Amino acid sequence: MKIYNTMSRQKEDFIPLESGKIRMYACGPTVYNYFHIGNARAFLFFDVVRRYFLWCGYDVTYVQNITDIDDKIIAQANDEKLPFTAIAEKYSQAFLEDSSRLGVLPPDFQPRATEVMAEIIAFIHELEKKGYAYEAEGDVYFSTQALESYGSLSGKKVDEQMVGARVLENLNKRHPADFTLWKASKPGEPVWDSPWGKGRPGWHTECVVMSRRYLGETFDIHGGGIDLIFPHHENELAQAQAMTGKPLANYWMHNGFLNIDGEKMSKSLKNFFTARDILDQYDAEVLRLFFLSKHYRSPIDFDRELVEEASRALKNFYSALKEMEPQKLMAEGLELIPEAKQSFIQALEDDFNTAKAIAILFDLASLAKKQDHNLEDRQWAAYTLFQLGKVLGFFANYDKKQDSRLSGLSAGLVELILSYRKQAREQKDWAHSDRIRDDLKALGIEIKDTKDGCQWQIKE
Ligand code: AMP
Ligand code: ZN
Repeated sequence: MKIYNTMSRQKEDFIPLESGKIRMYACGPTVYNYFHIGNARAFLFFDVVRRYFLWCGYDVTYVQNITDIDDKIIAQANDEKLPFTAIAEKYSQAFLEDSSRLGVLPPDFQPRATEVMAEIIAFIHELEKKGYAYEAEGDVYFSTQALESYGSLSGKKVDEQMVGARVLENLNKRHPADFTLWKASKPGEPVWDSPWGKGRPGWHTECVVMSRRYLGETFDIHGGGIDLIFPHHENELAQAQAMTGKPLANYWMHNGFLNIDGEKMSKSLKNFFTARDILDQYDAEVLRLFFLSKHYRSPIDFDRELVEEASRALKNFYSALKEMEPQKLMAEGLELIPEAKQSFIQALEDDFNTAKAIAILFDLASLAKKQDHNLEDRQWAAYTLFQLGKVLGFFANYDKKQDSRLSGLSAGLVELILSYRKQAREQKDWAHSDRIRDDLKALGIEIKDTKDGCQWQIKE
């Protein structure tokens, strides 16, 4: 397996730290608004990475954080005249709902920054003791000059950052490249007690602490969009390196942008479409196909024509599946067409070339529908299409519709339990609602919150 590592700017052989195990972390959203389809590209891509590794038989631990304390959340709270916790809760729920509608599997761990505050404070304190952090008027900064390797991920050197820094935007900083670990709070802002007074953490510290908590000091893959390389990931890495002298992750993967009219889709440019709006217009799998038809590191323009094309292609896949009876299609463990399977694996093992993998699915769909072909081969193609498509997260709806593993009584009981969960959610009793979700999951029933209500399916 080859993975393009942003650290070395080249494709490298992928060797997990521990044989058979993969530990990966991808930066999640800052919950101050509904996420847009540019963010969706990142969430979907890392979902596919994880699904592929699972299919290969790895024991994968996937962590995606939720940034629930940040300047932008505070600004939005002021705009909406709500406490910051209400904003964070509202958009965290929206994030979970929209991710689920997108068909993104829930991560193994989804920590929120505010849940790890004690660890964040202890971490900063430790950096200070080691001489990598200094306090000034209740703020704490990371001293980039103290870390020789600073800049190794992005290639930006500390001195380069002096160029153009005519005025230090913050006179408390010893160097313009130094970044905030802890911010003294301004009146009216949320606060936590710390050795430096009341304040709150910086974003870069939140992520590094959350990743360490679940994945240890060094893990396999750290991911996000290319906008996160600098400063976010550089600064996460700097803190880890200062703390342990070791890399934070062995492979850094970054997806390219979703653009609109050649410009990055972003909230600040206001040129975005929210995922929930787009999901009202297109099936989630259409969006998945649209993104995966391009290599993850290439930019993609949000072109409606191409989305329509993806929609037609997806219909074609589904119609190819009709060549085989549902129960046979869903049977597990049968042999796949060896050449197709091998090419599919080769494509994904070459730095996740999903565009090639999708082309293989196209070929299989054509084969399945080739009327002058013998039925057995056409059905084999349909079976292979279904099984390989599922690896990339397709055909979820098909599975569910055909599922006959539950008797009417059991299905009724699941619905009944879900109605209790709905009540809990209406009363904002998230703890109860999450417990029902987790308990059902433990029984093998996975649920998704969608605009049309809660949907459920039996896990593979
Ligand atoms: P944010 O909530 O802005 O921190 O973004 C969440 C994730 O979406 C990060 O991995 C970003 O790098 C990624 N992201 C943001 N905008 C885009 C875009 N236009 N295209 C692709 N990925 C993006
Ligand atoms: Zn992060």
